[in-house]
Amino acid sequence: MSTIAAISTPRGKGGIAVIRISGDDAIGVAERMFRARSGKALAECRNRSAIYGDILDASGNICDSGICVVFRGPNSFTGEDSCEISCHGGTYVTMTVLTSALAHGASPAAPGEFTKRAFINGKLSLTEAEAVGKLIDSDTEERMRLSSGAMRGNVSREIKKIADSLIGVMTALYAAIDYPDEDIGTEGEDMIEGVVNGALADVCRILDTYKTGKAVSDGVKTVICGRPNVGKSSLFNRMTGEDSAIVTSVAGTTRDILRESVSFGGITLRLSDTAGLHESDDVVEKIGIDRANDEIGKAELVMAVYTAEDCVTGYPPTELPSCPKIAVINKSDLYGGEAPHPAFVSYLKDSFDRVVLLSCTGNEANVCAALKGRFDELGMKTDIGIDGLAQAVSELYGSDKIDLTNDAVIWDVRQQASLSRAAEWLREASAALASGDSVDAVCTTVEAAAASLSETDGRGITEEIVDGIFHRFCVGK
Ligand code: GDP
Repeated sequence: MSTIAAISTPRGKGGIAVIRISGDDAIGVAERMFRARSGKALAECRNRSAIYGDILDASGNICDSGICVVFRGPNSFTGEDSCEISCHGGTYVTMTVLTSALAHGASPAAPGEFTKRAFINGKLSLTEAEAVGKLIDSDTEERMRLSSGAMRGNVSREIKKIADSLIGVMTALYAAIDYPDEDIGTEGEDMIEGVVNGALADVCRILDTYKTGKAVSDGVKTVICGRPNVGKSSLFNRMTGEDSAIVTSVAGTTRDILRESVSFGGITLRLSDTAGLHESDDVVEKIGIDRANDEIGKAELVMAVYTAEDCVTGYPPTELPSCPKIAVINKSDLYGGEAPHPAFVSYLKDSFDRVVLLSCTGNEANVCAALKGRFDELGMKTDIGIDGLAQAVSELYGSDKIDLTNDAVIWDVRQQASLSRAAEWLREASAALASGDSVDAVCTTVEAAAASLSETDGRGITEEIVDGIFHRFCVGK
């Protein structure tokens, strides 16, 4: 493979920077631009040991001193001969070291090219390689745990286990096709049926994690909406842990949509605080209300805020989109003990997935208890407080049942599509077995299922898809 080089640390000033070189001539390129203080040639230095020396620029003059580590293939990240030169992290010196590598025989690496080579050389499966990019982009603990787990092979290992079991079945089926006189026998048939159904259950289990994985990875567009003054901005501030939305008793303060990403209930919420919904003559507020309605239309999760008083007066129902919805009954501290209005209770029951009682200003466990007691009497399940809201989100998106560190969790539509195809083929295989179809027919469906599994993990994937995946990476990775 050609030899490539790039700066693998972030742009800007830092204590150190790392220039990565990989390919057939990686050690040669490093040799020409690095002089070990020991006088030893890099080719003679021990694998993966830190060698101190002087770094030469493109003209052969010393520009810095630093460390070079030689990784001989296949025991390197890319699987090829590679060198990592650590220099001081000034922007000019770092660029000088990279320019020197290019002048000494390397070519500039494309985005994601080191990881792409690791994939091509069999060092990483496709899901592991995709996870490397995700890990670098992670900005929350959940995103980090999801990608770090996948990078360590949580998904690949599971898929390989299922694929291996299908290979066992195919071997038995090929034998039956090649030697038609030798009957597979009931025992053989049972084994094949057991493996196929087991594989289907395993694939479905992984597919079930998609909703959570996607909610962690891409986030869920969540819109906080409701009438003016019900406490939407107070809720937004509590969830983000910041004081970014203006909270006042003056109605109509929020006009522009405020957006923030938060880690909440084990997933990522892309949260918007919107203008209060009501009839207004104010031109600016009206624009805010139109924008709020647009935002609600695009929501993947709605948090509709009401007050404890609304429960009693029976505030008229609002029309909301068909996505998952949580009713947040705020200002529970102001609840006077009156019976909730039956029409409002029916509205909550019919329109919302969860109902959470809240007080953005008071001690929730105490102040929400009275209202909760009333709802309990009416057979309506409610959660209390911001923790209850997090629990509701977590249960809606399944993050309460998933261990991001250890489970096989998928997050990408490509992974979901190929696993769904595998599940379809396995369903067909199972049906073919149940109806006593020919061995040939069963074999074709099992082969197709195995092929879809190998697409998930990159073994049967086209070059175009591979290029598309790695182009999303940064240079130097
Ligand atoms: P928004 O217009 O819906 O965004 O409402 P705000 O968050 O601006 O709150 C309106 C007013 O209600 C402010 O004076 C808040 O301090 C007050 N408020 C918000 N939440 C609560 C609550 O749970 N209890 C009480 N008593 N007041 C609240």
